[in-house]
Amino acid sequence: MPTKTILILGGTREAFNLAGKLNQDYRVITSLAGRTKSPKTPAGELRVGGFGGAEALSDFLVSENIDAIVDATHPFAATISRNAAEAATLANTPRVMLQRPPWQASAGDHWEEFPDLQVAAMNLRANTRCFLTIGWQELGVFKARDDVWFLIRMIDAPTTPLSLANHEVVTGLPRASSDDEKNLMRKYKIDTLITKNSGGALSAAKLEAARELGIRVMMIQRPQASAGDVVKTVKEVKRWLAYKMLNLSCPE
Ligand code: NAP
Repeated sequence: MPTKTILILGGTREAFNLAGKLNQDYRVITSLAGRTKSPKTPAGELRVGGFGGAEALSDFLVSENIDAIVDATHPFAATISRNAAEAATLANTPRVMLQRPPWQASAGDHWEEFPDLQVAAMNLRANTRCFLTIGWQELGVFKARDDVWFLIRMIDAPTTPLSLANHEVVTGLPRASSDDEKNLMRKYKIDTLITKNSGGALSAAKLEAARELGIRVMMIQRPQASAGDVVKTVKEVKRWLAYKMLNLSCPE
């Protein structure tokens, strides 16, 4: 019977994989924000929905006897990561962030970096055809650009009409093969791709496709990460937990 309880803040493939790896040795609770309609169910226990801020998250840590938090949220989910950092301090709970490394441009890429979506929206060229792979929450930033046509990819179809003047929606996950991404970009005559620098292999095929088609990539830089321990892989989380649970200091 596992004696230690780990809270995984999820919403990423890594968080899902991590729950499967830790479930044998720990009681694992994965927390999801509840943004997608039918998320894959991770191993262990699942809770869904916001906590109600940092203090409420801290109360949850205490009431559920959480021994450690693994913040495996998306690198752009800055609010929950900030809350997790504050809650961990309040409840005196060890915390580690699992963050995939960002993508790096390579030869043949036409990337321009932007600090956020607002600045990218201002720098979009008029009369272009832009592929947006940024989810649905921040689409409003592009509302004023009625001189641009957008192809918008979302996991679930929107339930209310989008505020963008000229657009089409494609639903589903990123395509795994760059050929499929190229076909999509060719079909819609895309000349610009706007994406967040999420990192990871799962959604990297679009970048390869953009490189091969010579498409302009407007890359949104990651927000500043919260301070604290950071690891890059599920294996490193396991090692970090092993050290923390034994109260040893983590080796470099
Ligand atoms: P966010 O802006 O950092 O968080 C907004 C609020 O959503 C938080 O204050 C929290 O509500 C709630 N929340 C977020 N993640 C949660 C979690 N794992 N469990 C419980 N509550 C959570 O987050 P976001 O950017 O909207 O992302 C939401 C979720 O989608 C995250 O879990 C993230 O991993 C995933 N995701 C995000 C992106 C992205 O581009 N941002 C991409 C892919 C996946 P309370 O304050 O009420 O606790």
